[in-house]
Amino acid sequence: MTIERTEPKSGRVQQTRAVERIVTGQATSDGAGVKLTRVLTQPLQRRLDPFLMLDAFRNENPDDYLAGFPDHPHRGFETITYMIAGRMRHRDSAGNEGLLENGGVQWMTAGRGVIHSEMPEQEDGVMEGFQLWLNLPAREKLREPWYRDFDAARIPSFQTADGVDVRVIAGESHDVAGAVTRDATAPLYLDVHLPAGGRFSQPLPPTHNAFLYVYRGDASVAGEALGEQQMAILANDPAADGVVIEAGAQPARVLLIAGRPLNEPIAQYGPFVMNTQQQIQEALADYRDGRFGAH
Ligand code: MN
Repeated sequence: MTIERTEPKSGRVQQTRAVERIVTGQATSDGAGVKLTRVLTQPLQRRLDPFLMLDAFRNENPDDYLAGFPDHPHRGFETITYMIAGRMRHRDSAGNEGLLENGGVQWMTAGRGVIHSEMPEQEDGVMEGFQLWLNLPAREKLREPWYRDFDAARIPSFQTADGVDVRVIAGESHDVAGAVTRDATAPLYLDVHLPAGGRFSQPLPPTHNAFLYVYRGDASVAGEALGEQQMAILANDPAADGVVIEAGAQPARVLLIAGRPLNEPIAQYGPFVMNTQQQIQEALADYRDGRFGAH
């Protein structure tokens, strides 16, 4: 669903945030050997609270993705998978199953625990997408798991008067409500496609942590240039009421992600993210003893 916006009052920004730091992702592999770029790494979790991880994958060689992510557990947070190209089949211990492809989003709230697999369903061609990890507040870490698939047509989108196409995966942008909202962390997750020289403004509460990731072309924020596969952490400045993103001489595609920090302790052991080491030990014991994903 595309909504035409001519004069987005709600999109006005008087003063853009500055770039605090530019981060280049780290090449790594995960699952059964899927090559990917870890953009948001563990040392940035505190700074980018409530976000715990962002992986970007873009592989043309099937050997780099075919092994996929066989059965593995999660507890204490949410995973949001956004597929740009290719097909990924998801199955979990609660009986959910879905096929994610071309612009589709899968939102999975692990809560007290799921075991799932994320496996490619194609044997050739490009596989491209992102996985974001969003923390849960302490009081919701052991909540009931939740899961939903959104195919591309179900992701709300709009076009600005400047010809910028925006897909609203979470939160709200220019009066368009996203596919998912969350009270505690108020996540904003936008995929912004700017034409060459295009400009996009997004209001942001100054206390929310925010970053963007350029996955096509190049862009700039407050005069700071960002190249392809670079992430910019945006400064939290009480005088700044949002961010203004500008594309360079080529069209650009940028993920803009922001949320309200939880300011709670983070204890992570692989796919378990809790508040204390004691809770991590409990997660390991529950997983070992088969208490994940039981109906
Ligand atoms: Mn997973």
